Amino acid sequence: MQTTQILDFLKTKKARLTSIRCALVALFADCTTPQSAPELIQKLRKLRLEANKTTIYRELTFLEKQGIIQEIDLGEGLKRYELSSSHHHFRCIKCNLVTCIGLDEVESTLQTWQNRTAQQYGYTIKTHSLTFSGLCTACSLS
Ligand SMILES: [Zn+2]
Ligand SMILES: [Zn+2]
Repeated sequence: MQTTQILDFLKTKKARLTSIRCALVALFADCTTPQSAPELIQKLRKLRLEANKTTIYRELTFLEKQGIIQEIDLGEGLKRYELSSSHHHFRCIKCNLVTCIGLDEVESTLQTWQNRTAQQYGYTIKTHSLTFSGLCTACSLS
């Protein structure tokens, strides 16, 4: 999703478009890797926007509730956020690099499996996760 599309969507929800909220949406639309709250605070600071932890978490919770972003937990002891979409991740065990990985046919198979499991057990399944971990290209060479 593009920044303008997301902002238009928020307007239809009568959400306030504060400068921090708009900047966050633009950051998420630009980022190709999931971001942690400290990373986002740093990036906002570069844009001369001061946001403390409380503000950031309030904004992240808001954007998540609107279905714009999703929270991911790759077992690093901190959560990361990215635009909502069905895909998975790779995490380097040495330098903590995280990248998004998706393969359309795998995603649809997983979705089918998720639906089937939900039906079979009578569960309401909201999400699933699959993380590849190992060494990134740079760490493989060093
Ligand atoms: Zn690495
Ligand atoms: Zn991702």
